[in-house]
Amino acid sequence: MRNLQINELAALLKEFVIGGRFLKQTPKLSRDEMLAWQFVRIQKLVAYAWQHIPFYCEHYGKVDFEPDDLKSWDAFHQLPLVTKDDVINHFPDQMLRTGYNLDDLIVSRSSGSSGKVLDICYDSEAMVIYSLAGLRLYQMGFKYRPWHNQLYVYTSPYPMDSVFGLYPMHHVSTLTEIPQIAAAIERIRPELLVCYPSHLKQIEPALSERAKSRLKSVSVNSEMSTQAERDYLSERLGCPVLDEYSSEELTRIAAQCSCGNYHIFEDINYIECVNDSNTTDNEPEIIVGTNLHNYAMPMIRYVQNDLGTLIEKDCACGWKFRHLVNLQGRKNDSFLMPSGKEISSGFLLDATYEILLTWRDAVVDFCLIQRAFDQIVLQVIPDAGWTASIEAKIIERFGQFFETGVGFRIDIVEECEKTKSGKRNPIIRRFDV
Ligand SMILES: [Zn+2]
Repeated sequence: MRNLQINELAALLKEFVIGGRFLKQTPKLSRDEMLAWQFVRIQKLVAYAWQHIPFYCEHYGKVDFEPDDLKSWDAFHQLPLVTKDDVINHFPDQMLRTGYNLDDLIVSRSSGSSGKVLDICYDSEAMVIYSLAGLRLYQMGFKYRPWHNQLYVYTSPYPMDSVFGLYPMHHVSTLTEIPQIAAAIERIRPELLVCYPSHLKQIEPALSERAKSRLKSVSVNSEMSTQAERDYLSERLGCPVLDEYSSEELTRIAAQCSCGNYHIFEDINYIECVNDSNTTDNEPEIIVGTNLHNYAMPMIRYVQNDLGTLIEKDCACGWKFRHLVNLQGRKNDSFLMPSGKEISSGFLLDATYEILLTWRDAVVDFCLIQRAFDQIVLQVIPDAGWTASIEAKIIERFGQFFETGVGFRIDIVEECEKTKSGKRNPIIRRFDV
């Protein structure tokens, strides 16, 4: 991801100074007011995508849809869905506005959960909105001030490390060893910590009371954690531990307020929960989202592949945004080491993501499988750039992640294994305990 340029940072600063007025007002809108606001944005976005993005023109052409047909929510809900494979297979030429230069955009790369590289592009205007939404998200946990330090443990850095010195942000890679992450917290003494819940569980016992006393809030993301786990960690750390639900494709989707409810960020995405034929009443449904700000690479009725239920109810925090309940995220497996130590799926995804990004022309697809406590296999479908030296480097790198005595090898395959239920999953554990 490229860093924000001076003019983009200046736009962000201006918004911070005037208080991100739009984002502060929208949580107070009534349901009807919000729907009306969203519908106007969606009409504009769909018309734009149909006119300027080759994929959408073709996708909607298949059902004879034209933007003038979009006169009601019903008509919008009839539009064909967009899947992760659609996005990967049509990137970049068919997914970006014709004539857009990739270098002008902010590109966020991830492995997603399909095992393939997923690139999502935003323009700087959208990036400013997402940054403001991030600021609002962290303010749900505490009074986040411009001089407070944030430390975030994540795959890649934000496209800035501060806004002209305000809101300083320190990044540590998720692949960093726990004692080094704890050392960074002791050194920086952040007020705000943003990390995976599996990391937080391991970091907490390694922290001094001094570092804990400085922390004012922790925001966890990317992996499923239970309320009981977060309550326990909150008690140990002496500050709120709130969960956030977001994705590279849709950015901010929902976050927990101080009352513990997950509010949809209605001014960032229009979220639907779509019934799939296998679900019955009262079961969570598939989360589908339309990002209301991304014109560089529109995400319209994008299938997020997680499950949840949307409800409308009052919240003591005063926000009118709908609540997301029964959230069930991607079911990737964690690995178990002989000592009993668990390696989270988030960490494993980041480790494999590193391979994909370092050698982009070497790997078509992969699957990391733990067959027994002491046996891990990386299945690789090689691409043109695959060499023995890359293989040796991957074996050396993965050797650092697993305990001594755990065998690791690479199998070259034509097709990767699937889960028991026949699903594609880049991280699979074949045994139960
Ligand atoms: Zn609330």
